[in-house]
Amino acid sequence: MEALDIEQLLELARQAARHAYAPYSKFAVGAAVRTASGRTVTGCNVENASYGLTVCAERAAVFAAVAAGGAERLAAVAICSPQARPCPPCGACRQVLAEFGGDDMAVVLEQADGRPRVLTLGALLPEAFRHA
Ligand SMILES: [Zn+2]
Repeated sequence: MEALDIEQLLELARQAARHAYAPYSKFAVGAAVRTASGRTVTGCNVENASYGLTVCAERAAVFAAVAAGGAERLAAVAICSPQARPCPPCGACRQVLAEFGGDDMAVVLEQADGRPRVLTLGALLPEAFRHA
């Protein structure tokens, strides 16, 4: 990914975090996914009084991307939380990202100084479970 694209994706994640519904944890997270065809879709975490029903920002973004334009390979995801920098995806989200992204999918995290750090999904979830 180009440096400009990375920064734009991270900015969209920052903006999405402002919409987080996190009255219980106070831990707002925003995510922005970029599909292989160039679509960009954002998501935020949405908590529930029944805590187990909470959906993370990353999964909200992936599911919204599928709902809006169909299942498509993901090229990148950016994740941002004002409360924790960097904010890597949880295990469940890594598995959901692996459903639509390959090992080379870019995972962009905001560092403490605000600059992006780019990892790969393969580094975060080696030997992911996938159907052949
Ligand atoms: Zn998660």
